[in-house]
Amino acid sequence: MENCEQNLFGRPPEPCTEDVKDTLKNWSRPFEPRRIIANIYYVGSNLISSFLIVTPAGHILIDTGHVQMLPQVKANIEKLGFKVKEVKILLNSHAHFDRCGGFAEFKRETGATVIASKLDGDLMMRGGTGDFFWDDASLYAPVKPDRFVADGDRVELGGVSLTAHLTPGHTKGCTTWTMRVNENGKDYDVLFLCGLTVSLYKLTNNAEYPNIIADARSSLMKLRGMHADVLLAAHGFWFDLGERQLANAWALPIPSSTQAN
Ligand code: ZN
Ligand code: ZN
Repeated sequence: MENCEQNLFGRPPEPCTEDVKDTLKNWSRPFEPRRIIANIYYVGSNLISSFLIVTPAGHILIDTGHVQMLPQVKANIEKLGFKVKEVKILLNSHAHFDRCGGFAEFKRETGATVIASKLDGDLMMRGGTGDFFWDDASLYAPVKPDRFVADGDRVELGGVSLTAHLTPGHTKGCTTWTMRVNENGKDYDVLFLCGLTVSLYKLTNNAEYPNIIADARSSLMKLRGMHADVLLAAHGFWFDLGERQLANAWALPIPSSTQAN
């Protein structure tokens, strides 16, 4: 059986199927890297996000995608005229193989500081083993974060400040990041959504994650109370990556019904 770490949908210990491999392939197609707004760039694949935030003191990368995608992400960074070696901070949204599968290799190459929440950092240190859903079926090279963030903690570099917001449910330490940018004299609140998908999970009497419903619900309520002018997320289909790119309209208004007050 080839590479079951790529098993996206099969519940462990189901074997990898051609369908699953096809899905991952379909999510990992090359995507032209581009600037989104201010100093934020998209460097991921067509459907697996990776964001580069450029500062005069070096760069911040949010997620690398899975390890097979890493060459694509690095090439995208260089294609935009930036240096992979100048990435100083590697931030994680959550500790699944399609978010941080490339962290070990990237950190080895660049020496970047890895930052994650405590609970997802623990999962990352185990290389994805013992995941409450995947168990040991979705593994990657383990990484020890250099810093753990709690809810509300800030990460700063070269005048950029990102705030960590714990939005658990999809993973126990799922981290949504926010920052404010200025473009043409106007401020924009940018939100990098961690992920909210819990539909495959056992929601009741889940001994591996007893708080899952309360966590998922409180994350939704918390996000409802947050303001975003530019919504970005771990997968392109959560923020209409293709359409926004075509329209060059990243800061599309978010319907007011989805925001509190
Ligand atoms: Zn995930
Ligand atoms: Zn994912």
